Amino acid sequence: MSTTLSEDHQLLVDAVRDYARGELIDLDAEWDRTETSCCTKLDHFYEMGLMGLRVPEGDGGLDVPTVCYAPIIGELAYAAPSVAVTVGVHSMVCEIIASFADESIKHEMLAKLASPGNLSAFAISEPDAGSDPASAKVRADKVDGGWKLNGAKMWVTNGMTGRWFVVFARTGDTSAARGFSMFLTDAQQPGVERTLISGKMGIRASETAEMNLEDFFVPDTYLLGKIGWGMRIGLSALDGGRIGIASQATGIAQACLDLMLDYSKQREQFKRPIADFQAIQWMIADSATEIAAAQGLIDQAATLKDAGQPYTHAASMAKLFASEMANRVAYRAVQVHGGYGYCNEFRVEQLYRDARITTIYEGTSEVQRIVIARDLLRDK
Ligand SMILES: Cc1cc2nc3c(=O)[nH]c(=O)nc-3n(C[C@H](O)[C@H](O)[C@H](O)COP(=O)(O)OP(=O)(O)OC[C@H]3O[C@@H](n4cnc5c(N)ncnc54)[C@H](O)[C@@H]3O)c2cc1C
Repeated sequence: MSTTLSEDHQLLVDAVRDYARGELIDLDAEWDRTETSCCTKLDHFYEMGLMGLRVPEGDGGLDVPTVCYAPIIGELAYAAPSVAVTVGVHSMVCEIIASFADESIKHEMLAKLASPGNLSAFAISEPDAGSDPASAKVRADKVDGGWKLNGAKMWVTNGMTGRWFVVFARTGDTSAARGFSMFLTDAQQPGVERTLISGKMGIRASETAEMNLEDFFVPDTYLLGKIGWGMRIGLSALDGGRIGIASQATGIAQACLDLMLDYSKQREQFKRPIADFQAIQWMIADSATEIAAAQGLIDQAATLKDAGQPYTHAASMAKLFASEMANRVAYRAVQVHGGYGYCNEFRVEQLYRDARITTIYEGTSEVQRIVIARDLLRDK
């Protein structure tokens, strides 16, 4: 990390690293094999304060800056990419609540979010609305004292165990940005049915669900921001989320690199360690260089975010580069392991599958390129 952390923040990153590499790494391998959700196994994460990373201290959280949050997500991803996204999505919801919840519920909600039993989720995607959220069909209709939501959400991370959902819904008849609003919802209320999506290629310990909403009542105080702010809240949350996914990708890549280094020194062919071959050295050198470049982009985006400066462009560049890079590095890690890398006895097999999602969620690589190019082409 090039960014300088305070002593306390460095200690926290070190503690996460020790726990992740010491214990979590084996748990995650088992959860991947058995497709077991990590969402029901978060007790230690609450104890360490990791579910309140983005909750203000006054509300019981750790309130770490993004320059500390990013390496924590990276360390979690090094050992357990599924846990990294679980914590990342929950942290994104905490930030939305801190910025946009009604004052009458904000502090109570933030305190809850840092406490067990209150895992949260972010539901913007739908069966027919992914890269284009403006085609979302879930509707929120005004009723006495609140809103009634109807429709289907898709691909909701933390969607089965989660209690609090931030839901993007149509509140106007226009497909323009102002036609959508964002709501906090409590999945313990009637009107919501959740179905687990199983059989994922990777991040198999991360929970993914479909949600069907039928006359799902949401009180007025659970409207986030104002009517018509749905797109604005969603896009700003995704900007922050992309720094998290870039960090997740970089953690996966670092794990792949370390495995490449170990294996290439042990494995002998032609009576020499394969690390002696220039072809292997180049894969190692390229991977280390690309990881450092991704880290630089993450630091830049995180520093801008912490300084309150625009960082959309920087977050998209970090997410685009880090996610594509993680896939290249995971590919090389399997290649360096030869046939053994193709079997699940070797961890690179899982990391190769886990890396794949990072170019897809929170905006595909194509969407990141649209965001970056649009900003560059805009008249300034
Ligand atoms: C495991 C997992 C977890 C997820 N978690 C969440 C979550 O917690 N909350 C949530 O709301 N969503 C979540 N998602 C959804 C995710 O964000 C979407 O899958 C993603 O945004 C892409 O949408 P899509 O799958 O509908 O693909 P599509 O939008 O249908 O895209 C298909 C292809 O077309 C390309 N494409 C689309 N539009 C353009 C364009 N204009 N120019 C060029 N290419 C384009 C895309 O890049 C992609 O390659 C998750 C998805 C997965 C798989």
